[in-house]
Amino acid sequence: MKFFYLSSNPNKDGLHEIHDRECEYIPSSYERDYLGPYNSGKEAMRKALTIRNGVALCKNCCSTTVHSIISDLSE
Ligand SMILES: [Zn+2]
Repeated sequence: MKFFYLSSNPNKDGLHEIHDRECEYIPSSYERDYLGPYNSGKEAMRKALTIRNGVALCKNCCSTTVHSIISDLSE
């Protein structure tokens, strides 16, 4: 179980990135929303999508590919 956070500021692609608590790229406490404890970034993304329209997994701490996430969510 990891603790996930959602960046309040969009990245260069206009997406809010999801990070786990240990990530070196996690935004400061003033620039992130706490998502909760999840087994994977993919589970955290389901929660994040209820907060923001455009979200993405951080490539550093969430290694699952974006393509597989989109196909899973559309089922
Ligand atoms: Zn990260």
